[in-house]
Amino acid sequence: MPAGPAVSNILSFEDARRVVEEHASLIHPNATESVDLLAASGRVLATPIVADRELPPFSRSTRDGYAVRSADVSTVPVVLQLIGEIRAGERIENIPGNLEKSQAVSIMTGAPLPNSADAVVMVEYTSQDGNRVEIQRKAADGENVVPRGAEAHAGGELVARGVRLNEAAIALAASTGKSRVEVYKRPRIAVLTTGDEIVNIDANPGPTQIRNSNSYSLAVQIQRAGGDPVILPIAPDEASALHQLIEQGLKSDLLLLTGGVSMGRYDLVEQVLSELTAEFFFTGAKIQPGRPVVFGRCSTSATASQNPATYFFGLPGNPVSTMVTFELFARPIVEALAGMLPRRLLFVYAKLKSEVRVKPGLTRFLPAILSVEFGDSIVSLVPWQGSGDVAATARSNCYIVIAPNRERIPVDEFVPIMVR
Ligand code: AMP
Ligand code: MG
Repeated sequence: MPAGPAVSNILSFEDARRVVEEHASLIHPNATESVDLLAASGRVLATPIVADRELPPFSRSTRDGYAVRSADVSTVPVVLQLIGEIRAGERIENIPGNLEKSQAVSIMTGAPLPNSADAVVMVEYTSQDGNRVEIQRKAADGENVVPRGAEAHAGGELVARGVRLNEAAIALAASTGKSRVEVYKRPRIAVLTTGDEIVNIDANPGPTQIRNSNSYSLAVQIQRAGGDPVILPIAPDEASALHQLIEQGLKSDLLLLTGGVSMGRYDLVEQVLSELTAEFFFTGAKIQPGRPVVFGRCSTSATASQNPATYFFGLPGNPVSTMVTFELFARPIVEALAGMLPRRLLFVYAKLKSEVRVKPGLTRFLPAILSVEFGDSIVSLVPWQGSGDVAATARSNCYIVIAPNRERIPVDEFVPIMVR
């Protein structure tokens, strides 16, 4: 058996996740760049977006109707004097400064209210006759009006640093007049797949060879987490070639290895990392799939001068193990390197469609299908051939999470699931 790290350190799922979260919280990237707002989707904000004026900038009507003083409509029906019309974008000099007692003004959605108006009554409840309007329904204070500054005050933070920009955040940037935003540079995440049997996807595989699929699933997961994948050549199960490629991978912001972390005679990843004087935080987690997952940090001559060391994960090579262990452990580190604020792992609950039996001792993440039947969220396991079965996993849309103390979970129990 190859010489691995001096001590093996196999943690429970929760402990392993905690170790990763602790390290993620220590990562503070500082390389930023300015990007066009139209190219900012999915990027992580490095400089907060601040309101440049009150939001809304004027007290805004949210519907077409009549701006009134709520005191004037406290008893209804009541006839008010109609003094004009305010359209959206109305020039400020055309807006009546104040509503006098018993006056109303016709107003459109998005238009500014006169100062003393504090409610907007909808058209359906009024009848209009020349310059008089009969209001048939009481209006509450502030009804159909968003007061100036109610959404945000000038100078207030609208989107915090570390937020991944989605359409709402980008709309806020646009509404403050920003055509460019400052975001973190995407971290470079090296992917090194290992195994004598693994060949490139454009090669013609021999009868006992396997095409490399892990580099491709990882590239997708890395991009989703905000990183840029850097795919290295496939490493053979041979120490010196592996050594050289690991050193190359450690020049990136994070190195993800797949395969070669089990206890087999040719699983050399931990041995080579040990030779490179890597520090191991854990060498396994009590989970299935993905038990042999490894997390650590290593400096090489190339990285020693820069940051203290580069984090690495050794992810098990079975394709579903690779996917699951990325989500559970590597994702928080990629997100932190991308500048994102830490997030907790999110589980939701759904009703189990049929009984599940497992051997206790491991936290399991089993591919499953979540669907809705008669208003209930129902989840059922996908039949699979184990952690190499990508075809079954592709048919699934979530993982059922099974606690290590469970042996039998009865039908209809609400179980935690991790949505993909
Ligand atoms: P290992 O973790 O190296 O013991 O590999 C476990 C299983 O995953 C073996 O059946 C490998 O052939 C398979 N495997 C390893 N790497 C890859 C890869 N990059 N793409 C597809 N399958 C892989
Ligand atoms: Mg292997």
